[in-house]
Amino acid sequence: MRWTQSLIPTLKETPADAEITSHKLLLRAGLIRKLTGGLYTFLPIGLRVLRKIERIVREEMDRAGALEVLMPALQPPEIWQQSGRYETAADVLYKVRDRARKEWVLGPTHEEVVTLLAAGEINSYRQMPKNFYQIQLKFRDEIRPRFGLMRAKEFIMKDAYSFDTTDAGAQVSYQRMYDAYTRIFQRCGLKAFPVEADTGVIGGKFSHEFMVPAETGENEVVYCEACGYAANIEKATSGIPKTAAREIGAAVEKFATPGVVTIEALSKAPYGVPANRQIKTLVFIADSKPLLVLIRGDDQLNENKLIAMTGAVQVRPADVKNPEDLAHFTSLGAMPGSLGAVVNVPAGWEVLADERLRGANEMTTGANEDGFHLRNVSIERDIKVTRWFDLRTVAAGEPCVKCAKSLKIRRAIEVGHVFKLGTKYSEKMNAYFLDEHGKSLPCVMGCYGIGVTRTLQAVIEQSNDKDGIVWPLAVAPYQVCITPLGVVPGSPIMALAEKLYAELTAAGIEVILDDRDERPGVKFKDADLVGFPFRLSIGEKSLAKGEVEIKPRSGAFFGVKIDEAVARLRELIAAGVSG
Ligand code: ATP
Ligand code: MG
Repeated sequence: MRWTQSLIPTLKETPADAEITSHKLLLRAGLIRKLTGGLYTFLPIGLRVLRKIERIVREEMDRAGALEVLMPALQPPEIWQQSGRYETAADVLYKVRDRARKEWVLGPTHEEVVTLLAAGEINSYRQMPKNFYQIQLKFRDEIRPRFGLMRAKEFIMKDAYSFDTTDAGAQVSYQRMYDAYTRIFQRCGLKAFPVEADTGVIGGKFSHEFMVPAETGENEVVYCEACGYAANIEKATSGIPKTAAREIGAAVEKFATPGVVTIEALSKAPYGVPANRQIKTLVFIADSKPLLVLIRGDDQLNENKLIAMTGAVQVRPADVKNPEDLAHFTSLGAMPGSLGAVVNVPAGWEVLADERLRGANEMTTGANEDGFHLRNVSIERDIKVTRWFDLRTVAAGEPCVKCAKSLKIRRAIEVGHVFKLGTKYSEKMNAYFLDEHGKSLPCVMGCYGIGVTRTLQAVIEQSNDKDGIVWPLAVAPYQVCITPLGVVPGSPIMALAEKLYAELTAAGIEVILDDRDERPGVKFKDADLVGFPFRLSIGEKSLAKGEVEIKPRSGAFFGVKIDEAVARLRELIAAGVSG
């Protein structure tokens, strides 16, 4: 490719609305252009990288025995009703209408479609295991599309869905995808590591996310350097000790706390109740039913755990400004800040308590009467807890749940996600098969996603320097950029540039020839910005010595004899060295 014939609109200035490095570089290096928030056009250089990542993904999926298919992006809402996700995934569903005003859904994911496919095509254990994958557009009505391709309204995902006859078989399929993902990210030059994850709206039993550590990541990962435990903070647990039990004290006693509505205020004089001796009481609405959540004063509730534990479709904190919710506070007898679960809990309300409070006594909590609290509360004596769960958010420094060493937390970008789904979708969508005894059973499923466009950006986020992108060889748009310093047609410099271009191309190397009539400084800057792994420059000085110069993107330049240049670049590329 000749630079003048391509479209590589590099920018000197950073576009104002790009916040993170990779987003800035995508725009500055001319890989993408914005149509509007969350929607982007891939320009030639960006598309080349995308296709390379897709090729790696495809090769590894094929190697793992998955079968490529292509399912419709436009889907009938009925199938979403059948799976129950028409409601649960309603926030992200783009809905469109046809000329007859009938509604359609733009697929944010494809469990429904693929399970129906399996329901139609798989009848016998003899046809399994099967794993179908596709590389396709997904549409999600994100609350906050941002950071370029990281969180877009429309993005490319590789999604795969496995169908097995047994749990053990599903575990094998899961492991195969887990291993394929590990290889994919490695081949893309990405340092991504798997962490235990919450299953969210997809549902299912068990999952891992593949995370790329980055300050700008939207996820927090809890990890232990000693034993390798790693989990998304939405799911992470720690080995933090339960609240120290004191001797069972005196009977519960009410005391006045006028105007005190925070943990902090109660911890100060004249009350002086430390946060770790307080019980925080929160009202939540789970599928329109109110419930109480109890957590220690110095802990943070993890709403993802609450959602997972209740199994409700929608869980939200009650809001005093909402008249329906206000009625719930009224029935408890107090407003937030004075709530408790010792007295006046309406019949039928569940009281969910965090495990850390189990056995706690000598605690203080709201009296369900504004301006009053209760002391000497012994949780198991004085509160009817319906269920105990791990509901708190882990903090850095807590002991690891596996080895008790100190946990750390860091930010990361989720690039892939593997789930064990079980039979949730196969039961709902009738994907049953006959086993060897003629018995009808639901297929055991797994689902596996890689954000292909997000992965592309994650590579840039992880691999850049002050001058621009530093592409890993395997995904670089071109491996070599030939930079003639002077582009007079027919000149010795240009003649050699053309010759090397032809030879490198013939050797199967991907080359771009910067034939622009620009100053060397401009060309070098652009080549670094776009991030080609090798620059081959041809100038008068080196030519006089019978040499050209090779510069790896992050290494120092060196001269090579003209007729050795091609062989040298071949060697470097074969060895995967680019800096
Ligand atoms: P997130 O938590 O970031 O919203 P998710 O858990 O909803 O993602 P999955 O349903 O697991 O995403 O989708 C599989 C992969 O698709 C994710 O691991 C991520 O790489 C990618 N992805 C998800 N949403 C987006 C988006 N809005 N833009 C770009 N990529 C996305
Ligand atoms: Mg996910």
